[in-house]
Amino acid sequence: MMLGFLLARAGVDVVVLEKHADFLRDFRGDTIHPSTLELFHELGLLDEFLQLPLARTKRIGVHIGGDYIRMVDLTRLKVQAPFMAMAPQWEFLNFLERKGRVFSRFPPDDGDRGERADHREGARDGCARVNKRW
Ligand SMILES: Cc1cc2nc3c(=O)[nH]c(=O)nc-3n(C[C@H](O)[C@H](O)[C@H](O)COP(=O)(O)OP(=O)(O)OC[C@H]3O[C@@H](n4cnc5c(N)ncnc54)[C@H](O)[C@@H]3O)c2cc1C
Repeated sequence: MMLGFLLARAGVDVVVLEKHADFLRDFRGDTIHPSTLELFHELGLLDEFLQLPLARTKRIGVHIGGDYIRMVDLTRLKVQAPFMAMAPQWEFLNFLERKGRVFSRFPPDDGDRGERADHREGARDGCARVNKRW
């Protein structure tokens, strides 16, 4: 999705293939790291992204016995957003999708989603009905 956004932003006509109907899958983590947020800043996306309902984690530590040990302090980073944004990955991907649409037909409209990419004998033969316009 990110590559699709970058290509679309550079003027390339992009179709992102996705076999699922949406991005509502919950098996991955929900952390958007300061380096990713810095990239968003460089792309002019950060302010709008931070309007989404995300939590911000600035420090991480553990309680061991009666002691608290701080392990991570992101506020010391020299970046625009010195924290981890916590949000479901579909919020992140849907945001990129919305921003990419500004540039081109990105990603596929409803009904244009790829069904499957064929792999035969280890080689990619291409996509089976990747887009009804193709
Ligand atoms: C358990 C786990 C936790 C993670 N937690 C974090 C985290 O907290 N923060 C973070 O920054 N990163 C996290 N990551 C890493 C992050 O998820 C990956 O780096 C990122 O998703 C890679 O993006 P990608 O586009 O290369 O692949 P993917 O995100 O896997 O995208 C590939 C897409 O292609 C689709 N697809 C597959 N086959 C086909 C087909 N034949 N036809 C059409 N579509 C197809 C899939 O449905 C999928 O949506 C985590 C990863 C895992 C596994």
